[in-house]
Amino acid sequence: MTNKPLRTFLLVLLSSQFAFAQTEEMTRKEISKMIAKASNHMLNLECEKSLIAAKNALNEAYQINDKVLIAKAYNIIGLNHEEFSDFKKAVQYYEKGLRYANQTNNDTIKDWLHNNLASAYCYHKLDFEKGIEHYKIGLYYSEKLKDSTEIIYTRLNIASAYFEIKKYEEGFKYLVGLEKQIQKGNALEAQISLNSLLGSYYTHSNNFVKAEAFYKTALELCKKNKVEFLQTNACDLYKEFSQYYFKIKDFENAYFYLEKYTATKEQIYNEERINEVKKAGSQIELDEYKRLVSQIESEKQLQARSLQQSRIIVVLFIITLIFLLLFLFSLYKNNEIRKKINNELKIANKQLKEAKDQAEEVSQLKSQFISTISHELRTPLYGVVGITDIITDEHKELSESSYLKSLKFSAKYLLSLVNDILQVYKIDENKIKLENSAFNIIEDLHLVTDSLMFLAEKNKNRLLLEVDEDIPPLLIGDRVRLSQIFMNLIGNALKFTHKGRVKITAQIEKIEGTIYYIKFEVIDNGIGIAEEDQEKVFEKFVQIERKEDDYQGTGLGLPIVKQLVTLFNGEISIKSKENVGTTMTVVIGFDSDPKQIKYYTDNLEVEYALEQNYRVLVVEDNKINQIVTKKILDDNNFPNVIVDNGFNALDLLQKETFDVVLMDINMPAINGFETTKRIRELGITIPVIALTAFDKQEISEQVYAADMNGIIIKPFEPKQLCKMIVQLCGTNT
Ligand code: ADP
Repeated sequence: MTNKPLRTFLLVLLSSQFAFAQTEEMTRKEISKMIAKASNHMLNLECEKSLIAAKNALNEAYQINDKVLIAKAYNIIGLNHEEFSDFKKAVQYYEKGLRYANQTNNDTIKDWLHNNLASAYCYHKLDFEKGIEHYKIGLYYSEKLKDSTEIIYTRLNIASAYFEIKKYEEGFKYLVGLEKQIQKGNALEAQISLNSLLGSYYTHSNNFVKAEAFYKTALELCKKNKVEFLQTNACDLYKEFSQYYFKIKDFENAYFYLEKYTATKEQIYNEERINEVKKAGSQIELDEYKRLVSQIESEKQLQARSLQQSRIIVVLFIITLIFLLLFLFSLYKNNEIRKKINNELKIANKQLKEAKDQAEEVSQLKSQFISTISHELRTPLYGVVGITDIITDEHKELSESSYLKSLKFSAKYLLSLVNDILQVYKIDENKIKLENSAFNIIEDLHLVTDSLMFLAEKNKNRLLLEVDEDIPPLLIGDRVRLSQIFMNLIGNALKFTHKGRVKITAQIEKIEGTIYYIKFEVIDNGIGIAEEDQEKVFEKFVQIERKEDDYQGTGLGLPIVKQLVTLFNGEISIKSKENVGTTMTVVIGFDSDPKQIKYYTDNLEVEYALEQNYRVLVVEDNKINQIVTKKILDDNNFPNVIVDNGFNALDLLQKETFDVVLMDINMPAINGFETTKRIRELGITIPVIALTAFDKQEISEQVYAADMNGIIIKPFEPKQLCKMIVQLCGTNT
């Protein structure tokens, strides 16, 4: 026994509760009409027409995206399919409809779809439990809507479903009280269903009288029915009735209703209708596929667009990557190049360092060489000059000998050459420092000119000195170096002028604070210097080629002058014209600060007196030098003893008393420094003067470190030696 479920699908037209825009309103009305038409066709089992109308309504509803109408259209399509036994499709369409319905506030359509879905599950025995669940949800909506017809139908359907699964009592609960409500509503189909269900219930509870009565009422009601759709109810009822008669063994009636059932069924489910449904149904499926395809296509378009975007991103990414790689590559290359350059630099640095070390070594060797050479040259020169003096002194008749004069001149020239070379080298190496003292510039100029008078006379020149009276009597500066500058400049002027005039002027150029800038000029009217040679004369070893080469020079005089002027922070310039004369101008600033002057004058050396004859011990290994030194000491009345090495000196000093020791430095066995140290170790405190051919600045540090008291450089002026002996011995006593 399977009761056909009762449905409400005849839709109320124009029942829209929404306020639509004018055109949409029209469209919705049209769609609603179409759905109503589909429902009517359905009721008349004109399935093809019903499905076509529902399909058109569905398409239109999709166009305006009206979910209620979509759900309604799907509901009709589902009903059509269900009616012709394609239950699975029916369920699919109901579920689709329900998905859209659930997105709306329309409880009516939700109610219908739950009920129809439930009916599909139950009537076609797909899943009763599921069906009952849907019925109950449908009942909830019906009650909410207070839709009495729907409530009645749903209750009848629930009861029917429970009866199907033999839960008669459960089902019966839903039938109680229904009879009155149905009569009120006068719903024919519901009455048929109720009577049929009650017939079933009472058949089950073996109350055949009641059962037959209900069945008969149901049949009577069926006969009244004119709507063809309800014939399906009659069809089901004939079947049930026939089964009932079989049960009570009334076979005549049983066969009678069975035949009726078969005839009605054939009438309804003829082949033509099924084909119609299939045709219309396949059209709907086609539309579904079309929709699916267009959905897929729009997804595809979306994908294509996102693919395009991804492509752009990928291209950009690749470009960035390429740039990045190029950048990395250039970084790497740069690094390589830098490494290479660094390596080259390292090598170059190493080479430079080696070159520097070599240069330093060479420079050291050079300085050693120069100092050795000058020492070795000065030592014999000391002998030559000294011996020449001794000869002239002892043999007065030879004093006018041109040979002796030449000898002395040559020796002195050689000596000045050695001194010049040494000086140039020392200035180059920044080894010369000016030694300041307070002195009278004018007096010194007189001294220089006096000492050069012999040269003036030799070349028959007049030598004039013109000085500014306002130059302060005492200024601070290095008088020795200044004299050297003048000696050179005046010497040159006198050398390159014959029977002419050499004038020296000294004037205040300007005064800045305590500094007096004095301008010195050495003006001659000699042979002059050609324009093109004027710059060259300050270069070392430059001598201008002359026709008459009867003068002697080294070509070092002016370079030394220039270097010295620079040391004074002064300036030198030359103005000359060939055969007219030369003017050398030097400007140097001297400090006149009284405080400074006082400082220097307080330390001024006192004049020495030669009355005291101090006993001198000379330590000297060179025989000639022994003779020269002895001669000087004797001449100046200094009693003296000469020993030729340090050990002898130490012995003698322990035995005898001396006032002063003249100590040679460079001696075999034990040198001057060592000997002095040992003298001091013996507790002897008498002055020790280093008498050496070494350069003073080179050895002064060692001299004082060895506790010596003074230095005299050979060859020396006898006066210089005597002065130092007296000074040192005087302070020592
Ligand atoms: P020297 O030892 O040859 O004098 P200097 O360096 O002092 O070397 O001078 C370089 C050259 O400059 C000299 O050889 C000379 O030709 C030229 N000279 C220097 N002073 C004068 C001057 N007053 N008159 C002419 N020529 C000069």
